[in-house]
Amino acid sequence: MKILVVEDEIKTGEYLRQGLREAGFNADLVRNGVDGLHLAKSGDYDLVILDVMLPGMDGWQVLSKLRRHGREMPVLFLTAKDQVQDRVNGLELGADDYLIKPFSFAELLARVRTILRRGRNGTEVTVLQVSDLELDLLRRRVNRSGKRIDLTAKEFGLLELLMRRQGEILPRSLIASQVWGMNFDSDSNVIEVAMRRLRAKIDDAYDTKLIQTVRGMGYVLEAPQEPV
Ligand code: CA
Repeated sequence: MKILVVEDEIKTGEYLRQGLREAGFNADLVRNGVDGLHLAKSGDYDLVILDVMLPGMDGWQVLSKLRRHGREMPVLFLTAKDQVQDRVNGLELGADDYLIKPFSFAELLARVRTILRRGRNGTEVTVLQVSDLELDLLRRRVNRSGKRIDLTAKEFGLLELLMRRQGEILPRSLIASQVWGMNFDSDSNVIEVAMRRLRAKIDDAYDTKLIQTVRGMGYVLEAPQEPV
């Protein structure tokens, strides 16, 4: 999941980016509203965390321009305690939530996960399921046929992407940008190595393989077709 943080306070911004990355998200950070708007319009972000008081263009302006451009990704506002009017404004403009500074990282992370679980149509999805494989977004747990499988944060992010887009062939470039937040050289084998580790945990012990390599195209996770 890709998150954009727009925050001009250097320490807060770095802290958020680092924490989100350690939690398995792919997080980018920019320090002013103009750059924030530009990236939010061009990047494929699942969530934008937007400070209200920003140099140049403030958080409200960024949000209203984003919505005017038809970008509907959720937005979480960061606002100071004495800016009650900010929150009203933000929610009227279509912010999904707000957090009052100072806040704990645990609180931010909980909000982020809640917003992302709501999914695009507003209904809350907490467990992704494909065949006998289950990924619990709330408890950050994966099991197959009822057996718990331990994954690293990156493996969890990779599996979450594959499961959210089950049945779609995901090119390596998309996986690289969504899970690692970078573009790999075409000869890099980072994705192959991570995918091999994930498959060893998810598929090796089972007759039915859920993750498939599509030669020259990418990877797909899907439940196999029932034989006719
Ligand atoms: Ca600020």
